[in-house]
Amino acid sequence: MNKNDIAKVKDLLSSPKSIVIVPHKNPDGDAIGSTLALCSYLSKKGHDAIVIAPNDYPVFLKWLPGQDDILVYNAFAKAAKEKIQQADLIFTLDFNHLSRTGDMEETLGEANATFIMIDHHQQPGDYALITYSDTSMSSTCEMVYHFIEMLQETEHIDENMATCLYTGIMTDTGSFRFPSTTALTHNVVSALIQKGANNGSIHQNIYDTNSFSKLQLLGVALNNLKVLPEYKTAYITLTQKELDDHKFQKGDTEGFVNYGLSLEGIIFAVIFIENKSDGIIKMSLRSKGDFSVNEFARSHYEGGGHTNAAGGKSTLSMKKTVAQFIDTLASYKSVLNS
Ligand code: 5GP
Ligand code: MN
Repeated sequence: MNKNDIAKVKDLLSSPKSIVIVPHKNPDGDAIGSTLALCSYLSKKGHDAIVIAPNDYPVFLKWLPGQDDILVYNAFAKAAKEKIQQADLIFTLDFNHLSRTGDMEETLGEANATFIMIDHHQQPGDYALITYSDTSMSSTCEMVYHFIEMLQETEHIDENMATCLYTGIMTDTGSFRFPSTTALTHNVVSALIQKGANNGSIHQNIYDTNSFSKLQLLGVALNNLKVLPEYKTAYITLTQKELDDHKFQKGDTEGFVNYGLSLEGIIFAVIFIENKSDGIIKMSLRSKGDFSVNEFARSHYEGGGHTNAAGGKSTLSMKKTVAQFIDTLASYKSVLNS
C-alpha cells in the first residue's frame, strides 16, 4: 500500500464501523487464518466485525481461535445477506475477483460498502477502493501482518491472532519450503512466535490429525498416480465413489497433488477430483520453476492462482477430462522440456 492508501485506511477505521471480512470459496488455511486474524484485530479496535465464508472449510482448521464465530453463507444465507447489506466496509482476503466467492458474488456485487482487498494472487480485479495486492508475498496472512504493521499497530497482535497468521503462512508455503518463502516471511514468523504462536502445536493440529480413512484415501490416490515422462507431468484422479468409500470430508485431499510433484524429474502435477453434486471435476495444479499453472488454468480450466499453484475445473466426465488434458499437454511439450 502506498502512503495515500494507508492514510485512507486509517481514516476509514478512525470511527467504529460495521465490517464484513470474506475469504474465497473452499477456503484454505491462509484464507481462514487471515480473515480470523483481521477480524480479531478490527474487533479489538472497536469495530463490529464478522467473517462470512462462502462455504464450509476443512476440519483440520476447526480449532483455530475465533473460528466458531464464522458465518457460513451457504448455510445461513439470510443472516449473511443482511450483514453484507448493512456493512460499511468489506474486506476481501486471499482472492481478487468476486467470482471466487461462488454464490456470494451477487450479494457482494450489490453491496453499498467500501471494499478493501488484501491478496497475493496474480491479475487483481478493480472492485476495491483500496487494493493491497502483492504477488511476491508468501501468503495473505503475511500481508495481514504487514497491513497491521503499516497501521503501526503490531502491539495489538495477540497470541490468538499470531496463531491464525502463523497457520496461514505455514499452510500456504508448504511449511516454509516453497520459493515464495523469503527472509521477510521468516522475520514475520519470528515476530508471530514472539507474540505467542506455538509452532509445534500448530503443526500438530494441522498435519497430525489425519483420520484413518483419509490415509486410506491417500493410498488410493497414490495408486492412481500416472506419470507422463515426455511432458515431465504427473497426475492423480479421484472419483466420487473413491471419495465416498473413504468417508471423504472437506480438506481430506489437500496436499495430495504435491506427491506427484515430489517425483524426480516431474515439474507439473495435477489432481482431478470428481464432485458429483456440483457436476464438475475440480483440479489442483502445481508446478516447479517457470511453468505457469496460473496461465494454464486460466487458458483451459476457468481457473487461476499463482505461477506454481493454481486451481480450475472441468465439466466433462473424468475420462474425457483426463483425455483432453493429455491432448492439451501436447502443445506445451517444448515449454515443459525447456
Ligand atoms: P488449490 O489447488 O489448493 O485449491 O488452489 C491453489 C491456488 O489456486 C490457491 O491460491 C487458490 O486460491 C487458487 N485457486 C484455486 N481454484 C481457483 C479457481 O477456480 N480460480 C482462481 N482464480 N484461483 C483458484
Ligand atoms: Mn493464499
